[in-house]
Amino acid sequence: MPELPEMQALSERLDALLAGTTLRRADLLGFSSLRTYAPTPDTLYGRRLISVGRRAKYLVWEFDGGARIILHLSRAGRLDVEQPPKNTRSRGSAVRFLFASHTLGRDADGVGILVREYGTHRKASWWVVAPGVEGPLSGLGPEPVSEEFAALVRTSDSRRRLTTDLRDQHVVSGIGRGWGDDILHRARLSPFASLHSLRPEQREFLLIATTDVLADALDLERARKGGLSEAKLGDRFKVHGRAGEPCPRACGNTLRRVAFESYEMTYCPTCQTGGKVLADRRLSRLLK
Ligand SMILES: [Zn+2]
Repeated sequence: MPELPEMQALSERLDALLAGTTLRRADLLGFSSLRTYAPTPDTLYGRRLISVGRRAKYLVWEFDGGARIILHLSRAGRLDVEQPPKNTRSRGSAVRFLFASHTLGRDADGVGILVREYGTHRKASWWVVAPGVEGPLSGLGPEPVSEEFAALVRTSDSRRRLTTDLRDQHVVSGIGRGWGDDILHRARLSPFASLHSLRPEQREFLLIATTDVLADALDLERARKGGLSEAKLGDRFKVHGRAGEPCPRACGNTLRRVAFESYEMTYCPTCQTGGKVLADRRLSRLLK
């Protein structure tokens, strides 16, 4: 799933391409990905797009007058930039937004933004919200690089697993399974430790690792061009999804995995858990 760095870099590319253009229309191409009934998308037709930004893992398109389109790609969502726009309706297509440049006039080809999805259980979603309405952004936790999150990490006595807190969008927004694994490895913290159990210096390591891992990831993502179309983004991680490979810190150990129902977590026993190999719940269930 695209997380903060991927969505931030994507929002920057879309902002450079689309800010100042007008929305011509939005063509719904598949099962309903639109999560709101009012205002309707056509109330934005002909409106100028002021900016494309990001909050958490959401793209936020702000239009003249303050109304916004908020888009979440979810786990399987992809976004293609089409210049000129296409008329195709390939498998998994959800919605195509058509933008026309002011300077080129309404009849010019403009730009198409196609949202597609792979798989079935996690759908890309979008919302049209009136000025001042938060919609899906309400209740989100602070951004990971913020004073608010730093204060939370320094003071929280949460007893939940770090891996759970980091991925909980109400605690901190924008981090998922991928960068969560890499952050905990960089901070040398066990994914099963809790904020409650951390010493003050370990809390600082967590904050530094969060900032550094996300900054490195954003640098990498800013080299990308166009939309976000790759089926797999996993090769960017140093730890996540790499169980069985040598630890990138060259400690001599091999990265291990703990598998849950729908995902797995990767860590290094030497660097993160004092040598302890965490029980793989999927494996222990098989052995029962
Ligand atoms: Zn290691």
